[in-house]
Amino acid sequence: MNKIDSKAFAIGEFLSQPIKMHIGGEQVAASSGKTFETLDPGTGKLLARVPAAEAADVDAAVGAARQAFNKTAWRSMQPKDRAVLLHRLADLIDKHTPLLAEIESRDVGKPRVQATAFDIPHAAQTFRYYADLSVNTRHREPFPVAGNDAWSVRQPHGVCGFIFPWNFPFLLLGWGVAPAMAAGNTIVIKPAEDTPLSALIFARLVEEAGIPKGVVNVITGLGSTTGAALSSHRGINRMSFTGSPEIGKLVAEACARNLVPAKLELGGKGAAILFDDIAVESAAEALAAAVTLNAGQVCCTATRWIVHEKVADAFIAKAASTMKGMKVGYGGDESSQIGPLVSDKQRRRVLGYVERSAKEGAEAYLPGGVADVSGYEEGFYVKPALLGGASDNICAREEVFGPVAYVMKFKDEEEAVTLVNSSPYGLANSVWTSDLDRATRVAERLVAGNSWINAHNLFPHGVSYGGCNLSGCGGGVLGPDTLEDYYRKQSIVRPL
Ligand code: NAD
Repeated sequence: MNKIDSKAFAIGEFLSQPIKMHIGGEQVAASSGKTFETLDPGTGKLLARVPAAEAADVDAAVGAARQAFNKTAWRSMQPKDRAVLLHRLADLIDKHTPLLAEIESRDVGKPRVQATAFDIPHAAQTFRYYADLSVNTRHREPFPVAGNDAWSVRQPHGVCGFIFPWNFPFLLLGWGVAPAMAAGNTIVIKPAEDTPLSALIFARLVEEAGIPKGVVNVITGLGSTTGAALSSHRGINRMSFTGSPEIGKLVAEACARNLVPAKLELGGKGAAILFDDIAVESAAEALAAAVTLNAGQVCCTATRWIVHEKVADAFIAKAASTMKGMKVGYGGDESSQIGPLVSDKQRRRVLGYVERSAKEGAEAYLPGGVADVSGYEEGFYVKPALLGGASDNICAREEVFGPVAYVMKFKDEEEAVTLVNSSPYGLANSVWTSDLDRATRVAERLVAGNSWINAHNLFPHGVSYGGCNLSGCGGGVLGPDTLEDYYRKQSIVRPL
C-alpha cells in the first residue's frame, strides 16, 4: 500500500489524497485531526493540507523510532548490509527524480529544472557517499596500552531528531539524515511547514528500499508546536537543526535541558572578495548566478560583494545587466531562472530590507521590487536587486534571504579581509583573483566554516560544510567527520 508505483504515483495522485505523516511504517493523520496549509508560492494557491502534529504525535514518532532501534536489525546490521539498503534508497530517489523535483518545485517555488539537475541527484549521492564511507570505517580500533587489551567500538546513538528549513528541503534532508542512517541510528524528521511534502515521499521510498519500519519517521507541523516538542523530547539521543540562528538558540536551549547534543547549521552573510586581477565579466556572471540561485534563499550565498575599486564600475555594470536579464517566472516553466520566494511573508521580508537599505542611503544599481509574472499574479515574485555603499547598511549586515546583493569597494587586501570578518556570521566566503598565493592566503584568513576560490556555492561530497559563530556549531555536514557525529564511541578494557 505504501509502495510507490511509478505510474500511479504521479503528483496529481499524491496531492488528491489526504496527506499523511509517516510513523512506524504507517501513514497517519495528526491525532488531533488538525491540518495546516502549504501553498504553491508560484500561484499563491493551496497546494495541500498537511497534518499538524502535536506533542502526542511527536511522542508516537519518537516511540516508533526507539522501537525500531531496539527491536529491528537496523542498528546491529553489518555496515555493508545497511549500505546495500541505502544504495537501493539512492537508486529509488534517482528513479523518482521527476516526481520529487516536481514536488520540490511546487512546494518551494524553485525552477523544476534546477531541482531536477541539482537538489534531487545531490541528495541521492549523499546517501551513496555515506553508505560507502560507513563500510570503510573501522568499527573497532585498538588502544595501544600496556597491561590491557583495550579497544573502542563505534555504536549508533539511538534516536536522532532532525528539524529542517524550507529552502532546500530534500537536499538538506539528505545531508542531515544520510550519515545518521549509515551509522545505524533511527530518525524522526520534522520538515519546515512551508515545504513538508518531499520528506513524506522520502519516507515511502525508505520503506520501498526495504529499510525496516520505524527507522525513518516524518512528522509535519508548525515550529512552535511540533518543532518545539521534538527538540525538547527526552527520548531523543541527538538533535540536528538547520535554520535561523534565532530558532537555533531555542532548539539548543531545549536540548541542553535534557543534555542532548545538538548540531546547529544556521544562517549566513557570505561575502565574495574580488581583486583587481579578475576576469571581470565571468566573475560578475558567476556571482549574479550565485545570488539568484533558489531566488537568493541560500544560506551560504555571496550577498556582500567586496570589489577592488579599480574594477568596481565594470564589475557592477556587468553584474547589474546580467541580473536584470534573468527571467523571473513560475518554477514549472522551463525558461524561468528565478522562481518566486517561498511565501508572502518571505517576500515582505525581502522587500522590507531593500526599502530600509535605500532609506539608509544605499545606491540602487538595480532597485529590485515586486516582479509581475503574467498568468501568476498571486505568486510571491521579486526582481533581483543590486545595492551598494557603506558597510554599516542593513543589507551589508543582516541576512536578507532573497536575490539581493550589496557591493562595497576596497583599496587593499587588509581592508577587504576586515570587511568580511566584521560579520557575526561565519558560514561561507569566496576569494576571486588570478594570484593563487594571494587566494590561499586570504581564503585561510576569512573566519568562516568555508572559503572558496574563484567560485561560490561548492558542495562536493567528502568536504565538510559547516559554520562558526552565528552560523552554527556542531561539526557541519557533508564531510567524513559528519559520520563520526552519529557514532557513540565506547571503550572496552580487559586486563591481561
Ligand atoms: P527557521 O529557523 O524559521 O525554521 C527552521 C525550522 O525550525 C522549521 O522547520 C521550523 O518549523 C522550525 N521551528 C520554528 N520554530 C521552532 C521552535 N520554537 N522549536 C523548534 N523548531 C522550530 O528557518 P527558515 O526560515 O525555515 O530557514 C531559513 C534559515 O535557515 C536561514 O537563516 C538560512 O540561512 C538557514 N539555513 C542554513 C543552512 C545551513 O546549512 N547552514 C541551510 C539552509 C538554511
